[in-house]
Amino acid sequence: MLDLYDKKELKAHLPEIDESELSETEVLEQCLKLKEELKDELVILGHHYQQDDVISFADITGDSLQLAQKAKSLDKKYVIFCGVHFMAETADMVTTEDKVVILPDMKAGCSMADMANRREIDKSWEFLTKSTDKKIVPITYINCTAALKSFVGENDGSICTSSNAKGVISWALEKGEKLLFFPDQHLGRNTCFELGIQLDEMVVYDPRKLNGGLTPEAVDKAKVILWYGYCSVHQGFKKEHIDLIKKKDPEMTVIVHPECSYDVWKNADMAGSTSFICNTIDQAPSGSKFAVGTEINLVNRLNSKYEDKEIVSLSPYQCLCTTMYRVRPRWLLASLKAIKNKQPINVIKVDDHTKKFAMKALDQMFKIS
Ligand code: SF4
Repeated sequence: MLDLYDKKELKAHLPEIDESELSETEVLEQCLKLKEELKDELVILGHHYQQDDVISFADITGDSLQLAQKAKSLDKKYVIFCGVHFMAETADMVTTEDKVVILPDMKAGCSMADMANRREIDKSWEFLTKSTDKKIVPITYINCTAALKSFVGENDGSICTSSNAKGVISWALEKGEKLLFFPDQHLGRNTCFELGIQLDEMVVYDPRKLNGGLTPEAVDKAKVILWYGYCSVHQGFKKEHIDLIKKKDPEMTVIVHPECSYDVWKNADMAGSTSFICNTIDQAPSGSKFAVGTEINLVNRLNSKYEDKEIVSLSPYQCLCTTMYRVRPRWLLASLKAIKNKQPINVIKVDDHTKKFAMKALDQMFKIS
């Protein structure tokens, strides 16, 4: 497997790639040409938060759940995943062994996924399970590494996405008396609250503190233990942004992603996953006005798509996912050229042990949703 960032190795295998020599237009033209040439063996998946120039090459677009579901039935050998690392790992796990999943930029990670690692989760589990006799069911948001998905599979839990979190958490609460939800505290808190769990029944485990900053008594008393993680993009939206927008235009409907803080989620008119946001705007009558609390590339795309509606970002600041932003047409071109040369680069492969248990947790999620 080649490493795109080892320029010496890249040059040895792909002497024709010199990213400094091609203009943006030439890069796009070459991507188009190569995509056409490789169409019988290639499919490109694009997450909604990708930039327009990248998304224009995607055969399938969607949010995490939609892309994971679509990836299951792909029949082309090469899958280029224009998204972030954990999504490409999921695609590798749900596709058959003969598929090659490629991430155009290996540094396209997710700041939320980086807020929990396997060592920290194992340590927290030891403390939490020692603190109470009651059964704890672990649930992880799909935005995490395969190693964390595997932990959940090993401990009879499930994965969830923002589209199916309600169903998965309800399932977990029927199965056990408590819930450990990671890595996103906001999705966990908002969904649990929607299901009738009060805020004082939830505690936050912070891995930077001794025992997560909790006492065994607090764990025993709590219904839900939330990991401290968050999405830096969605946490950027504030209640003041809602107040400001509503003051300016009371007819504006505020619609936000459940990765936003409780304060924002509670005060918004509507909240739901990326696909919920897209569908709601799509079905709204002409003349509707939306202030959207999610990643800016998607908001801008929705704004261009629905000229008869007013669609603005909820925040006056750029809420950009900088890790998604790393995937550029230049890296897509490098991936396409490498496929053409039968020397795929940036291949994402999850080891068998991790995959076995992560798949158990993924299958559980697909069963519930
Ligand atoms: S938007 Fe947030 S959760 Fe999604 S990939 Fe970017 S950092 Fe991660």
